[in-house]
Amino acid sequence: MIQAEMLQYQSIDRELNRIEKELKKNEFFVKSKQYKALHQGCEDNIAKSESKAAELRNQLAAARQNMAEINGVLDEYYKEIEEVEGEDELNYMSKKLNEQLDMLASLEREIKRISHEGEEIVKTLDDINSKLPKIISLYAKCKEEFNKVAESAKPRINELRQKQAALKAKIDPKLLEEYQKVAAVDSKPVFVPLRDGVRCGGCQMEMPKAVVDTQFANKDFIRCEHCGHLIYKEQ
Ligand SMILES: [Zn+2]
Repeated sequence: MIQAEMLQYQSIDRELNRIEKELKKNEFFVKSKQYKALHQGCEDNIAKSESKAAELRNQLAAARQNMAEINGVLDEYYKEIEEVEGEDELNYMSKKLNEQLDMLASLEREIKRISHEGEEIVKTLDDINSKLPKIISLYAKCKEEFNKVAESAKPRINELRQKQAALKAKIDPKLLEEYQKVAAVDSKPVFVPLRDGVRCGGCQMEMPKAVVDTQFANKDFIRCEHCGHLIYKEQ
């Protein structure tokens, strides 16, 4: 037999768990979590877009710098070409010129790509910014509604906690410690009654009667080897 206070404590724990579960199922709680996640998603996207935009600005600056350098080289080449004599030299210069012109064309493509990606970022940000205020206001509304529900559950929760505190003072600390160890990892009742003198009241596993009797000889409760719950004998 274990202390009646321990079992009362457990049943209050069960009720507190039920209240908490109900609160978590509340539609405003569920929605506020969804809006919060959406908001976070938007913020993440904004941050990602901004870092991408910074990267594009750097790429654009580098491309412009390269372009200026190529234009400088081209100016030189044009001047040199005017002074070229002979076909071989002209061919050579024309090859070098074409190389620079190819590089210029590829830079132009690069700048086009950067500008296209930049436009995409602007679109993304516009899209986020148009949705964000609504998400934020819906989140606030759901949170406010949920707070009202949570507030209305508070008196009952406080009452139960006070009862638990009073019971706790009467429960053997070692017993409570055993209870809390199991309760921390399992939401089902920790203490379960022995059924028919041989079965665990938690998982219904049957144990040899001799084993049960031996184990209970000097203990108030035994641990079910199958489900880990603490089995006690009902009076
Ligand atoms: Zn069991």
